[in-house]
Amino acid sequence: MERNATAALKRQPRYDILFEPVRIGPVTAPNRFYAVPHASGMTNTMPHMRAGLRGTKAEGGWGVVCTGYVSIHPSADDSPLPYATLWDDNDIRSHALMTDAVHAHGALAGIELWHGGGSVSNKTSRLPPLSPSGLSWMATHVGFMGNQRSRAMDKADIQNLLRWQAEAARKAKRAGFDIVYVYAGMGYLPYEFLLPEWNLRTDEYGGPVRNRVRLVRELIEVTKDAVGDTCAVALRISLEELRSRPGTDAVSEAHEVVALLADAPDLWDVKMDSSPTDCAPSRFTPEGSHEPVIDFVKRITSKPVVGVGRFTSPDAMVSQIKRGVLDLIGAARPSIADPFLPRKIAEGRESDIRECIGCNICISSWHDSVPVRCTQNPTIGEEWRRDWHPEHFARSASTANVLIVGGGPAGLECALTLGRRGCQVSLAEAHGEFGGRLRFEKSLPGLVTWGRVLDWRMRELAKLDHVTLFAGNRLSVDDVLGLEYQRIVIATGARWTRMLYSTLELPVGVLDGANVFTPDDVAAGARIEGPIVVFDYDNYYMGGALAEHLARSGAAVSYVTPAGHASAWTIMTNEQPQVHRALAQAGISLHTLSRVVAFEPPELVIANLFSGAEQRLACRSLVMVGARLPHSELYDALLARQPEWAAAGIEAVDRIGDALAPGAIAHAVYSAHRYAREFDQDPHAPLYKRDAPIVASEPRIYAAGFEASDEALPLHAALLQNEALLR
Ligand code: ADP
Ligand code: SF4
Repeated sequence: MERNATAALKRQPRYDILFEPVRIGPVTAPNRFYAVPHASGMTNTMPHMRAGLRGTKAEGGWGVVCTGYVSIHPSADDSPLPYATLWDDNDIRSHALMTDAVHAHGALAGIELWHGGGSVSNKTSRLPPLSPSGLSWMATHVGFMGNQRSRAMDKADIQNLLRWQAEAARKAKRAGFDIVYVYAGMGYLPYEFLLPEWNLRTDEYGGPVRNRVRLVRELIEVTKDAVGDTCAVALRISLEELRSRPGTDAVSEAHEVVALLADAPDLWDVKMDSSPTDCAPSRFTPEGSHEPVIDFVKRITSKPVVGVGRFTSPDAMVSQIKRGVLDLIGAARPSIADPFLPRKIAEGRESDIRECIGCNICISSWHDSVPVRCTQNPTIGEEWRRDWHPEHFARSASTANVLIVGGGPAGLECALTLGRRGCQVSLAEAHGEFGGRLRFEKSLPGLVTWGRVLDWRMRELAKLDHVTLFAGNRLSVDDVLGLEYQRIVIATGARWTRMLYSTLELPVGVLDGANVFTPDDVAAGARIEGPIVVFDYDNYYMGGALAEHLARSGAAVSYVTPAGHASAWTIMTNEQPQVHRALAQAGISLHTLSRVVAFEPPELVIANLFSGAEQRLACRSLVMVGARLPHSELYDALLARQPEWAAAGIEAVDRIGDALAPGAIAHAVYSAHRYAREFDQDPHAPLYKRDAPIVASEPRIYAAGFEASDEALPLHAALLQNEALLR
């Protein structure tokens, strides 16, 4: 039923280079697609979900699939953030599920062994954190703050660390991993040894670069001694800060570090130093942004190099390889947005790639300590729990004709998924163009890449003959009752309100007035006269992006929020530092911890949340970015006429996306996808399978020195014989 389904597609020869095998120490990656370590949010408490996610990537053609960060010892305890562990035999079994799932598709499995050093607070283990010189990371955001500082490591601590790494490496091998990491990045312990600000030591581990690099070298050596006969040993290292420092014998300290360790690891995995620069949001940073920092590594080492850059275009990937920047194309976000990216290139279907939009909702799930979610890919994390495969869709048992009203992200996702399930679908959109909220939002500063949510869905929908799209069709309740569809899906979105909130955060009524606007008014082209105040208590991107957008028209703009930061929630998506920078660059004055108390143009009165101190701002137009409520008029009208449904042939009327419960675009896409997957399901069917940690062996009691576990335990293959019992 799909158009072009029979046309034989073949891989473009210019992409052949991406499918060359790459030798990494004692193992060989089947191609150059490398799913780098990234947190799944599932920890060891959801091992089957985690295995489902990683196995699906391997099935999608990634030649190497890695874990997220895995703690080697209870002194590396990142709670409440969702880190994984490799401390005992239950953990080995838990990870073995993943290696098994990855190997089933011919890919290699990598594990990122990790010690957080002075950047963790050990909130669960309650051990004093370890650091080179007793200096700790001092987070400024409440979600990441702790008040337990670290202690300086002595020589015995260093020996313990090396032993923990070696023991964890042996456990990793028994769990079936092929690539074992030493992780010297992102503020974690080995990285802290590399930088002189953290490392004030006067022994052989501190001082000149050759000393600061010693711990990393020793970690590589003990890992190689432990497992290097059969496993590759990778070094993951952050080079941003080191590259910015002039070296004594080379251009930068990064050059010196790489030269000192050149061929010590089997693989270099190179990255940035902080989450906002490493996983930079597309709003402020283009694809390939790491290149100026990491481009020199391959010139120094003879070992393969992997790096990331939110690469979704195969031509950009080929260019990285041909220009000698990378050997392996690393991806976290592109592999989340489309686990089948490599397979699509292999099959000549690169135009089907569901490209990552760089919104960083996936990162927010790590900060929220929940399983990974994605704006583009609603199936991520649901592979095992809900049995959602990103590319396979069961034929619907229902033959009902479906009318979807509203062609925003939810309506489009629902039409596509129902269409893929073989349903006859019509999608009606009031506006002349599809896209819903994104029609306007993709025109806001930095958000053009978010248009991929629409572009990909429109492209895929065009292949389905049995899905018909009607733009420029605003449907009334009479229209819907007269159209003879059996299933009606309302995806009419939400509207912004002028609701005000009290100091206790309770809704206290609406602020009306000719000069009070919402983002909907701005989107509709209302004339917004300056000076303008944007009052933001939505806290996600809209307030900041709108303030920037309005400032571009030349008006004086102030930004007011009851939160402590501009666009406060964007700390979760790595955008917040750049939001502040962008507002400052646009000349927008910032008023935090403030609420609006009176508006009499040309003046707005705001008050400090705590002191009540008032301030007057020049303001002709107030733009309120606050609460959203569903556009439920059509749904309500249909419910009111339920007695007429049977005569009209209507079996059910349902709501999805923002029309059901307003949220981010990711919520709308997920809601729509779930509806379409469960379209023919009994509404009382179980929600999903609940995952549980593996407890095949007795809880382990840690000896003070965290001694090695019993090496006589069976190896991976034998372990797995027992796994059938655990599934
Ligand atoms: P979501 O994020 O849930 O997809 P959006 O607000 O982005 O919601 O999209 C909702 C879409 O529904 C908008 O494009 C809007 O024009 C459309 N819409 C609203 N009411 C009707 C209607 N009565 N008939 C057809 N389309 C409608
Ligand atoms: Fe990309 Fe956004 Fe999905 Fe993350 S959530 S993978 S940034 S589309």
